[in-house]
Amino acid sequence: MVIAPQRPNTNERPWLDPNSKPQIVIEAVEKRYGDFTAVSGVDLSIYRGEMFALVGASGCGKTTLLRMLAGFVTPTSGRILIDGADMTEVPPYERPVNMMFQSYALFPHMTVEDNIAYGLKRDGVARPECARRVTEALDMVQLGGLGRRKPHQLSGGQRQRVALARALVKHPKVLLLDEPLSALDKKLRESTQFELMDLQYELGITFIVVTHDQDEAMALASRVAVMNQGHVLQVGTPAEVYEYPKTRFVADFFGTANLIEGVVESQVDGVLNVLTATAGLVRARESRPIAIGAEVTVAIRPEKMHLSKVATSDSGGNSASGEVWELGYLGNRSIYRIKTVSGQLLTVFSQNERRTLDWAIDWGDQVHIHWSDEATAALES
Ligand code: ATP
Repeated sequence: MVIAPQRPNTNERPWLDPNSKPQIVIEAVEKRYGDFTAVSGVDLSIYRGEMFALVGASGCGKTTLLRMLAGFVTPTSGRILIDGADMTEVPPYERPVNMMFQSYALFPHMTVEDNIAYGLKRDGVARPECARRVTEALDMVQLGGLGRRKPHQLSGGQRQRVALARALVKHPKVLLLDEPLSALDKKLRESTQFELMDLQYELGITFIVVTHDQDEAMALASRVAVMNQGHVLQVGTPAEVYEYPKTRFVADFFGTANLIEGVVESQVDGVLNVLTATAGLVRARESRPIAIGAEVTVAIRPEKMHLSKVATSDSGGNSASGEVWELGYLGNRSIYRIKTVSGQLLTVFSQNERRTLDWAIDWGDQVHIHWSDEATAALES
């Protein structure tokens, strides 16, 4: 099968359509191991054809949730429904899902073809049908011609694709992927991300991906669920979660954020004025009413801040002053850490648009940071 360069319609958002039925419903699911709660009160609806990512730091419960979907772990309470059917009593091999494991778990002594055919043979699929499906799966992942090789004769990226072909060969309705790209180096991971997205779109299968890598989640997913300590804190498109985080945790976990604490002084025409020690009065665009005197945290992304050696008189914006404390050159951009008058370090990303070997702003320089009220989010906790 040739993978078309066609891209999905990113405006297709079934989760916003009240007439659209979710394919997977996770209802009040909890998993306890003795006194320890690994997954707590999770409710999620996932739609057919989504590339849904579960993200969070190590130990937050994302693999446990994935394994409950696969049927390898039984929820302590709650229900999981797929296409309206309750999966509680359904064993893993009878669920319309398949899982691709983090380690790929290929049999080293078997050829690529035999690895892929393993599950079909175990299910008693006839030999000609088995051969046809293996060829189809190999073509899907662009490995046609390598079927006779053993896993050790393949590159890491090719082994990843064999694992993917093995998961796809049984034509699951839902594919569960546990850290699918973690064994690949950075360049290969980036190109494989796109291949995975193309393949998912072509096949129309729902993919649920577990990853601790927020960049990967942002690049791949139609929506992400950010998890912490067994709870889902926020669900949304990557842009919603990045641009409109609801909590400090999400703002900090998903990308880099400058978090400045302060007290609400007033709220006028949808603009919150927050008095801070770091940047004086900070203006944040906020339509929700927030009480005067409330303690809040404002969050600003480093790429939305601008550095200059002179203060600008832009009355609509926010500013802070400080000294360049640390800086790092990353090729396409530079990272500045500015020590403000309050002692808080603020991170600013500066795009390296000009080709130059000199630093326009250097260690020890006194600088001003500017950013708009629109770039400033007021967070709940
Ligand atoms: P990672 O990215 O490191 O794989 P994760 O978010 O996928 O982390 P889980 O594997 O879901 O995390 O584990 C969540 C928590 O549940 C962890 O604290 C883990 O130690 C605990 N846990 C998982 N399985 C068991 C088990 N069988 N018995 C006891 N505790 C468990």
